[in-house]
Order: sequence, then structure tokens, then C-alpha cells
Amino acid sequence: MAATTQEPLIVARGVSHFYGRGALRKQILHAIDLSIEPGEIVIMTGPSGSGKTTLLTLIGALRSAQEGSLRVLGHELRDAGEERLIAVRRQIGYIFQSHNLMRSLNAQENVELGLEIQPLSPAERRERARAALEAVGLGDRRHHFPDEMSGGQKQRVAIARALAPRPRLILADEPTASLDKQSGRDVVDLMNDLARRQRCAVLLVTHDNRILDIADRIVHLEDGFLQSFAAAVSTEAQRMLDALIHTTRENDIAERVQGLADEAFATFLAQVTQEFEQLLRVMELSGSDAFESMLEQVLEAFTLRIGRMLRADRATLFVVDREHGFLWSKVADKAGLIKLSLGQGIAGRVAQTGEPMNIADAYLEPLFNRRIDDETGYRTRTMLCMPVKNATGEVFAVMQLLNKADGALFDDADATHFAHVAERMGVILQAWARMARRTVMDPPEEAA
Ligand code: ADP
Ligand code: MG
Repeated sequence: MAATTQEPLIVARGVSHFYGRGALRKQILHAIDLSIEPGEIVIMTGPSGSGKTTLLTLIGALRSAQEGSLRVLGHELRDAGEERLIAVRRQIGYIFQSHNLMRSLNAQENVELGLEIQPLSPAERRERARAALEAVGLGDRRHHFPDEMSGGQKQRVAIARALAPRPRLILADEPTASLDKQSGRDVVDLMNDLARRQRCAVLLVTHDNRILDIADRIVHLEDGFLQSFAAAVSTEAQRMLDALIHTTRENDIAERVQGLADEAFATFLAQVTQEFEQLLRVMELSGSDAFESMLEQVLEAFTLRIGRMLRADRATLFVVDREHGFLWSKVADKAGLIKLSLGQGIAGRVAQTGEPMNIADAYLEPLFNRRIDDETGYRTRTMLCMPVKNATGEVFAVMQLLNKADGALFDDADATHFAHVAERMGVILQAWARMARRTVMDPPEEAA
């Protein structure tokens, strides 16, 4: 067994790269600093042409580094000769965009090919390849040729081939690019699972935002400059919000949303949700405070607007935290931060049962807690309390509306109307609920 070292598997310091000569010489990578620890799964994102593949070929010892220092598996690759490059290359597993399987060899033979340089007997090699194909769910397809397999299956063979030699490092360049959504997800889940089991580090290049969640860390390459993902996304989020708000004044999404007619608001919600969907997913990963506060602002505006839409005097949105057994609200109209116990009070009951409650006179409802009214002098009369459910039917938020205009009662039409809107903002709500739960480690004392 190789001696274990404390050194990261990859240490790039000031790595720059140029293509072309003379007047055509063009800088592709700018002083890249990056290190990857054993067992770490790192995703590199970035637009097409930003230099991702170039960086991957340098790290993968497919060419020698020209500038800076690049140590991979303990070898310096700056100005490295072919011999050293080959020695490093042999210790790395590669997975490319297209599977790169030999068409004339079946799955078993393709995986065995990856084991050729291992000190194994033919029988051991056969067994290792069989087990690797078994592990990627292709035990029964070992004798199929690439042309007889789907894209996802071929990519699974490529994963088996890369992992069978038990490398300490896998480099994957857009492995889901030629696959449909579901096969892409399956392939990446599989790779993630196997890599973690073998404690193999992975550097995966992708611009498929749907698979970012497997990463321990995400880095972003733009025009040859590497930056932290959080920084990249914060910039992007700011840009999107600016575009969204269409106003020169900052922090004024509320005003814009309040001014929209109901139908326009519904359309706006659908648009925002669609535009935000991917962004939200990646923002959650980066856990940016700035984005969370922006999101909160958006939700606050939406909560107010929904309240108005249903002609309620007050609207409060609660997040359900099952783990700690309470609901709390940061996005509250006037009342400030409220925390409720799950199952207690009206919102608490709605969170627990998943059934809406429409109350004609709050003071006649035994579940109603008058403490806030007593403290603030507000008089709650009618109340509509609606669950907001995720795709699996679990209540993750509760919207509470108080005092419909002109003393009218809330009715089924209001409930339906709300459910419709809630569905449209579901993605935003869920992302916010998850983020919010994570940041409130020490919620305030019960206030209602
Ligand atoms: P990405 O993988 O992020 O799409 P690449 O690393 O493939 O980016 O390419 C980065 C830039 O380098 C692009 O402008 C591309 O045209 C250029 N490039 C890539 N390979 C070569 C090459 N062999 N010779 C010259 N230019 C290249
Ligand atoms: Mg590329």
C-alpha cells in the first residue's frame, strides 16, 4: 500500500495556462489556486469556454502545466515530462462527457481494460470488473456492447471503469451532459455513492445545477478566474433581483408587488418562481446571508400582497420546524417575530393537522391565544389559517390572515385563491423555510 501523506491530493498555486503562440497566444487560465483533500467531492461550475476542461486536463496530467505550481498525487506537474505525466495519469480515474468506451469491447472487457496496469491476475481482474459492474447496477449487462446500451448505462460502465482500479482521485468532465434529466441524476448519485464508499476524491465539472447538491464544495470558473461559488452566486442573485424589481430604488420590491393587479401578481409569482428555482437551489448550498435577506424581503412583500389580495387586514407567514416542535415567523406584518408551539394555538393546530381553519370570531375559538391582542391592543375577529404543503403533503409553512375587510367572513373562495397562490410560490417558500430553519439556531422565547 502507498504511504499515506498529509498533503492534499491536488494543490494548484498560481496556475496559468496559455494556448497559441506569438500574436495568437491567449491566456485561458489566470493564476488558479485550488486544493482538494482526500475523499473530498468538489464541483466546478462555469460557463462554456471559461477554461474548465483545460484546468481538468492539467490536473489530470493530460498536459504539463506551464506556470505556477501544480502538485497532483504528490507529483509536480509544472514542466513535467511525458514519463511523470503518465505515472500520474495511471493513478487517476477519468469520466468524460461522452463515455469513451471501446465499441468493439463489451462492458466487462471495457472495465477490465481500465485494470490492465494493476498488478492483478487475469482471474482477479475479471472478478474486480464483475464486481464494479455489479456495483453500478449492470451485473446482468456485462456482455453487452456499448451500442446495445442506453446513454445512462454506458456512462455507468464508464464509472465502473474509472472506479474499479480504486483510484484516490476521479476527474469527471460534464458526465451528465449527454444524458436526460433522470439518467443524469442517477449516474451522479451512483458516482457520489461509490466514490464516498471508496473514499475517493472527485473533481467534477458541470453546468448542470441540479446535481450541485452532492458536492462538499463548489468552485466557479469564469473567464479563466476561479472564485468561490458563494461569491459568484451572490453577484448573480443581485443581478437577478435587480432585473426582477425593475426599479432604480433599492429594497423596494414591496412597492412594486403591492402595485400589481391580482392577475398580474399571479403571473409575476409564476415568473419569479421559475426564474428563481435553480438559483434557489444553489443559493441554499452556498448559504449566503445576503441572499437570505433578499429572499426574506421578497417573501415579506408577497405575504403583504397576498393579504391584500384576500382583503385581510394582517397577514403572517409561519415556518414549521418539526424537529424543534414549533412554528415561527420572521416575515410578519407589524407583529414582529412570533414563535408558537406546534399543535398549540390556531396556526400550531393547522401545522399539525394540515387542515385549514376558517374562524368567524377568534374570541369564541378556544384555541385562540389572546396574548398578542392584549399586548398590542389589536382586536382579532375573523381569521383564515392555511397550511402550505410540500410535494409529499407535509406542512412546511402556515399563512395566517386576520380580519377580512368590512367585517366580512373569509370563505372557501379565499382558501382556494390562497392555495393557488401558495402553490405558485412553493419553491421560494420551501427554500426560504429550509434556509430560515438553518439560521435560527436559538429562536426567541415563546411570544404567543
Ligand atoms: P470549458 O471546458 O469551460 O468550456 P475549455 O477549457 O474547453 O472551456 O476552453 C477554454 C478556452 O480555450 C476556449 O476559449 C477554447 O476555445 C480555448 N481552447 C480550448 N482548447 C484549445 C486548444 N487546444 N487550442 C486553442 N484554444 C483552445
Ligand atoms: Mg469543457
